[in-house]
Amino acid sequence: MEAIMKDSELAAPYYAALDSALRIGEKLLSEEAQAEEVVIAVIRYLEDNPLFNAGKGATITYEGTFELDASIMLGKDLRAGAVAGVKTVRHPIEAAYAVMTLSPHVMLSGEGADRFAAEQGLDIVENTYFATPRTLRLMEQMNAESNKNGTVGCVVLDKQGNLAAGTSTGGMFRKRWGRIGDAPVIGSGTYADNNSCAVSCTGHGEYFIRHAVAFNLCARYKYLGETVLQASEQIIHRELNTEAGNGGLIAVDRNGQIAMPFNSAGMFRGCVYKEITSQAPVRYVAIGSETNNISLKK
Ligand code: ASP
Repeated sequence: MEAIMKDSELAAPYYAALDSALRIGEKLLSEEAQAEEVVIAVIRYLEDNPLFNAGKGATITYEGTFELDASIMLGKDLRAGAVAGVKTVRHPIEAAYAVMTLSPHVMLSGEGADRFAAEQGLDIVENTYFATPRTLRLMEQMNAESNKNGTVGCVVLDKQGNLAAGTSTGGMFRKRWGRIGDAPVIGSGTYADNNSCAVSCTGHGEYFIRHAVAFNLCARYKYLGETVLQASEQIIHRELNTEAGNGGLIAVDRNGQIAMPFNSAGMFRGCVYKEITSQAPVRYVAIGSETNNISLKK
């Protein structure tokens, strides 16, 4: 992450990918798409981009395989879907959506989740599909103290005032024993509620689970009356920082206020919004701490 932040040539493809993701979302929103359609389209795009630790490009397990997690939640009715530890689903976010819409459950895991995705006709691939030259290099140096950042997430407030959030990841480098992180855990890595906010998290999942970060943020907003910025800063910079819980989150509240704080070296992030008074969209992308967080009026 530090190397990317210091080198504009290394950073350029990340900025370009973030910008493309924002344009995908912006176009759909201008066509009156629903929040969940935008979340899926943006995350699908990022899952296909090998720069990120999600879908193609996912990080490797201790065994040198790929196990992916994803979730989605809708703020209008609190419906949610998630998959954990899938090995053959090209777009885990679509599998999460299928769990929500086509099964009576919220979370499916492992082999059963792969089988369910195949039964729904989703794109199925060999586990080796997820490898990239970079992950193969990591595999060769399994003992290297290296990680791969780049969990992807998307939060949306659509024109109808509905919120949705989604998260997709390859998880933590060298994870073992079927480890599941926060990304597919509703309330930890992902949460959306039209009465408060839509939230997607990235970072050391064990800490995000313990602090129920995504729900915690919505609860602070709803019950303490904090702004999305105050609530997310409190959690990321105070609650998590004291326990070495590295990471960050992206959040938007029901009024379009945005927060994207992180306590790590950097976080790939971006947002697009329109001022009420202007038709021109404002697009913003960043990696490092040049603006540690932003707060924008809709
Ligand atoms: N939160 C993810 C996990 O713990 C990893 C990440 O966001 O980098 O699985």
